[in-house]
Amino acid sequence: MGVIRKTKAVSTVLSIFENKNEAKSVVSLIELVKGEMNKTTVYRILDRLEQDGIIHSFNGKDGLKWYAKCEGCSAHKHSDKHPHFQCTECDKVECLSLEVKIPALKNHKVDSTDILLMGQCETCCS
Ligand SMILES: [Zn+2]
Ligand SMILES: [Zn+2]
Repeated sequence: MGVIRKTKAVSTVLSIFENKNEAKSVVSLIELVKGEMNKTTVYRILDRLEQDGIIHSFNGKDGLKWYAKCEGCSAHKHSDKHPHFQCTECDKVECLSLEVKIPALKNHKVDSTDILLMGQCETCCS
């Protein structure tokens, strides 16, 4: 798995992402591992995992950074352009396995997209 050294701290953070369809905010990640590592370590691990194409990040509705596991990405080919869904009731965030067509912009080069759909999730709808 890339250049990252698999320390205990890295394994701990990675195990949180095992449930790959659910994203975690940086705040909840820090909360989940507190006692095991400090904030700075969490940020550093997340950065490295993202560079390695293991996880991806996006901005949630509250301006917080969210992280989720990537599927089929590597450090060289990072192509996770799917939208995300955030539930306004329970705050759960899901990765949507949909492809979003990015419009071609004249004289512009698009490097990344950040599409966040908001509403009620399956659990909160029923
Ligand atoms: Zn919900
Ligand atoms: Zn995602």
